[in-house]
Amino acid sequence: MREPATRHFWAPQFECATRERLADIQNEKLAAMLPYLYEHSAFYRAKLKAAKLTPRDLKSVADLPKFPIVTKDEMARDVAARPPWGTYTPIDDKIWRARGWMVFSTSGTTATPRSFRYTALDAELWATTSARALYAMGVRAGDTALTCTNYNPHVFFWSIHHAFNLMRVAVLPGGVATQRRLQMLDLYQPTILAATPSYSLHLANAMREAGGDPASSSVMKVICGGEPASGIASTRARIETTWNAQLHDVYGCTEAVPGGWAFTCREGVRRVARATHQHPVATHVQEDLQIWEVVDSETLEPVAPGGRGLTVVTNLNSEGSPQLRFMVGDFAEFDYGKCACGRTFARARGGFNGRADDMLNIRGLKLFPAVVEEIVRGFDALGNEFQIVLETDGVMDTFTIVAETSQPVDEFFARELSARLEAEVIRQCELRPRIELMPPGTLPRTEFKARRVIDRRRIL
Ligand SMILES: [Zn+2]
Repeated sequence: MREPATRHFWAPQFECATRERLADIQNEKLAAMLPYLYEHSAFYRAKLKAAKLTPRDLKSVADLPKFPIVTKDEMARDVAARPPWGTYTPIDDKIWRARGWMVFSTSGTTATPRSFRYTALDAELWATTSARALYAMGVRAGDTALTCTNYNPHVFFWSIHHAFNLMRVAVLPGGVATQRRLQMLDLYQPTILAATPSYSLHLANAMREAGGDPASSSVMKVICGGEPASGIASTRARIETTWNAQLHDVYGCTEAVPGGWAFTCREGVRRVARATHQHPVATHVQEDLQIWEVVDSETLEPVAPGGRGLTVVTNLNSEGSPQLRFMVGDFAEFDYGKCACGRTFARARGGFNGRADDMLNIRGLKLFPAVVEEIVRGFDALGNEFQIVLETDGVMDTFTIVAETSQPVDEFFARELSARLEAEVIRQCELRPRIELMPPGTLPRTEFKARRVIDRRRIL
């Protein structure tokens, strides 16, 4: 749908459908997608055959667990054997020449990148389904958005750009330089800032250094993607307070788009604001477009409804990348009750903030970088930048948190702050860190996803 249907909902027939109706839609789309995938993707054909399945064996969502989960490693092996595209998508050269729109890919720093070819139809689906999410956040025609993105193949920025175009939200392409973006904020007074969470804080600091005040800027909403934001309470509080704006975020993965961003809704975020950021934020998944399963992290078997586990997605609404049971690998638990906003789409309680791949194993204990972020951002005396540095000392792992202070501090205050930070990390993570405090502005800044973990451990 290219227009909102009502004042509150872009597509209420899907967003507010009964759970039974959503299940019917998923089953219908699954039945249409499987023969297409079987015919056009050698990767899926081989995987179905190996499991002794035909498309007819997966008639409904209840049959899905018969099909083994697809991992990133499997896709990586496929693309290494058949570069540059692999066979895990149904797009061949003929379709690509006829309807090609854009290529998105993983970074490929250590191996052949996993690449995804999306078509003109995908572009259309992407805009309309992302518009639903933005509409639920309260974005309306007449808003103006500053998008802080380089010209990179990142799904968040391109989808938000196309959705803004569709919604008649004027876009200010922010270029690549922070100074230019600050000038645009000042000159054009955008109501929306779209950026990664780290960059939104970096931009605010740069504004302060230039004598401005982000809290009194024109920005009413900060919309984040690319890194967890809403699910980390202290980061959420910091971004909302810094910009004096409502924070929203979207969630998805390069493999299973277009469309189907998970998103925070206006009502859900308001409730959190009333509870002074203590409530977890819930993130809606768009269930007429995707099937979200939660599986046990050890056995990979589905967990009971509402249980915690790793996310697996089946993407029903794509010509370029209709994936079947792809392991996204975020820890999540879903609430299937109706939200205060009126939507029936399930919500990930507390959002998505811990991808299993990101989990660190330090001296036999598990640690998510997001937990350290939550702690660091909870200290007003600490700045926005921090790193987790892991090294080997003899046979022991050392775990150091390098954090910037928000203001220059004297030695006495630094010692006291280090001790409080150390105590809080021990309390929450059961690990004793070394703390290194740095003056403001010393750690590297990133435009895109921040590199928080430096692992220099020797493999013994
Ligand atoms: Zn909601």
